Amino acid sequence: MTTTRFAPSPTGYIHVGNLRTALMNCLIARAAKGSFILRIDDTDPDRSKKEYVDAIKEDLTWLGLTWDEIARQSDRLDRYEAAAQQLRDMGRLYECFETPTELDLKRKKQLNMGKPPVYDRSALALTDKEKTRLREERGDGHWRFKLDHERIEWDDGILGRRSIDAASVSDPVLIRGDGQFLYTLASVCDDIDFEITDVVRGADHVTNTATQIQIIAGLGGKVPNFAHHSLLTGPSGEALSKRLGTLALRDLREAGIEPMALLCLMARLGSGDPVELRTSMDEIVDGFEISKFGAAPTKFDVEDLFPLTARVLHSLPLTQVAEHVAAAGVPSELAERFWEVTRDNITTLKELKEWWKLLSHGAEPVIAEEDKFFVLKAMALLPEGPFDDETWTNWTSKVREVTGRKGRELFMPLRKALTGQSHGPDMSSLMPLLQVIKARD
Ligand code: GLU
Repeated sequence: MTTTRFAPSPTGYIHVGNLRTALMNCLIARAAKGSFILRIDDTDPDRSKKEYVDAIKEDLTWLGLTWDEIARQSDRLDRYEAAAQQLRDMGRLYECFETPTELDLKRKKQLNMGKPPVYDRSALALTDKEKTRLREERGDGHWRFKLDHERIEWDDGILGRRSIDAASVSDPVLIRGDGQFLYTLASVCDDIDFEITDVVRGADHVTNTATQIQIIAGLGGKVPNFAHHSLLTGPSGEALSKRLGTLALRDLREAGIEPMALLCLMARLGSGDPVELRTSMDEIVDGFEISKFGAAPTKFDVEDLFPLTARVLHSLPLTQVAEHVAAAGVPSELAERFWEVTRDNITTLKELKEWWKLLSHGAEPVIAEEDKFFVLKAMALLPEGPFDDETWTNWTSKVREVTGRKGRELFMPLRKALTGQSHGPDMSSLMPLLQVIKARD
């Protein structure tokens, strides 16, 4: 069975970049009627916070990216210890005692000599006696996985055939000196135990993938299909990494972005397929193909989410936004009419409140000096009511006849006089609503 996972570290809020990873993995699972696992990578007790775990769940739920199973790495420490022992027994895990400063110095030296900064494996030469002495002096060492120096190859779902020379990569540290298991070991154990078949993650994990392939094989697991999506950049190609903090999913939600707008954009951005508005996850799954995504950095402009959100809203019936309409202060008997009048003119649901305030409190009329006489004349021609969808057209035709004004000159001063705004819902549908609201006061 196809099984995928989204594996965030709960050290912060998840952002659009994480969403891309989550969505791709979720869509692969859904397309294959498989299973999508939410895995909380919380092996770092200092940086992992429960509030971020809750926030991640909340954000994914908001988007409808529900998971079939949830796992936490902090619950599985015994398993990681057993795996570490297995690797030790095989001679693939060795203890090292270099301090960060020493390692840094080594790296600098290598770079100065024009060599790649790869760990020199000097710890492999330590005798048991030396290790005991170092342990006494410096405390427990950290543990590295001994890579086989051969080429590591895989068919990447996005990047195509990849080949990395293991000798060009440092032996990865799997356990820190304080005993903390690091992500690489934990992730590998989980991918094996949860029988993960497909892993999609950012291109920044390509080297990790190479080493993980060897560790998985070392532990006797089956290597999943890997695909590495490109990283997002800003609209003009600038690195987004620094700005990602401001592109947290919760901020986008706060800004009024609709989940469907976000999903539709993210499921196609960088794939060569056009971004089209869909109404359900099933429709998004349809046509999603990981191999369509390109390796080049993908431009992301948060502004694109607003017109998409507007389009989502234009298509929604009141039933789906009733809560928001009510929250804007609209009485239920006017909700239907209010939504019909406003939905084509809003970009986000946040604007409902303003519109209701404007319509219900009677807008402060805006009348330019040169329009005063014209507006007065027009108002005198306003029929008694009740207003209906024809009132605006009939009224403005009459005003045109009497005053000779037409086009924008005619409509704009009247719109401003009635709503205080130079833009907004279609006046034909707004007029009856305005009258009903007035009649209630
Ligand atoms: N916790 C890792 C991250 O957020 C997961 C990477 C992976 O998918 O293996 O980068």
